[in-house]
Amino acid sequence: MIEDEENISSFAQMYLEAEGFRVTIANRGDDGLAQARAETPSLVIVDLMLPGIDGYEITRQLRAAGSIPIIMLTARDDPIDMIVGLELGADDYVTKPFNPRELVARVRALLRRADAHAPSTANAQNDIVRIDSVEISVSGRAVTLDGAPIALTPKEFDLLTLLATHRGVVLSREELLEQVWGYTFLGDSRTIDVHIRQLRRKLGDACQIETVWGTGYKIAAD
Ligand code: CA
Repeated sequence: MIEDEENISSFAQMYLEAEGFRVTIANRGDDGLAQARAETPSLVIVDLMLPGIDGYEITRQLRAAGSIPIIMLTARDDPIDMIVGLELGADDYVTKPFNPRELVARVRALLRRADAHAPSTANAQNDIVRIDSVEISVSGRAVTLDGAPIALTPKEFDLLTLLATHRGVVLSREELLEQVWGYTFLGDSRTIDVHIRQLRRKLGDACQIETVWGTGYKIAAD
């Protein structure tokens, strides 16, 4: 956890440790990034405003280096923080001040998903999914567009794969949250919308994700 406010980090640490997690705290951005690289934790919780370098830059650098799950701490009522954080590759966010049980639930959900995606458990069947010029290697967790690799965050990949393997089916925001993030009770559909927007931006005209007004998203049947 990279957080400069000690009352927040010690509070979160107490709750997470009570749930059996081992928590290391960094109170500067630069130290936190160095520690995250050196210790390769299972998950990183990062505040936005930090001495040294800020949470956006930490997220960008960690995401560029791999698929480690990242939860961003953002100020309440500032949707811009949340949107920028998710666009930079955070998997989820929690607004401050937060309920520690909500933080624990989100940590658990992200770790459960990360485990499920370990290569050893990947299903080799139906491994390649194609939507015109977009090709998804499900077990390889890789996407190409006209043969060129496209860099997606883990959640963008999961969303695209879920929609691509349910062609013609409208998936509601609640279903997408449950399937990709592992929860619905904390549901915030803006998370979905930001990830869909990123997919559209990265895939351009090849992105066939349609908005079904008032319901959710789908990729049309072949
Ligand atoms: Ca701070």
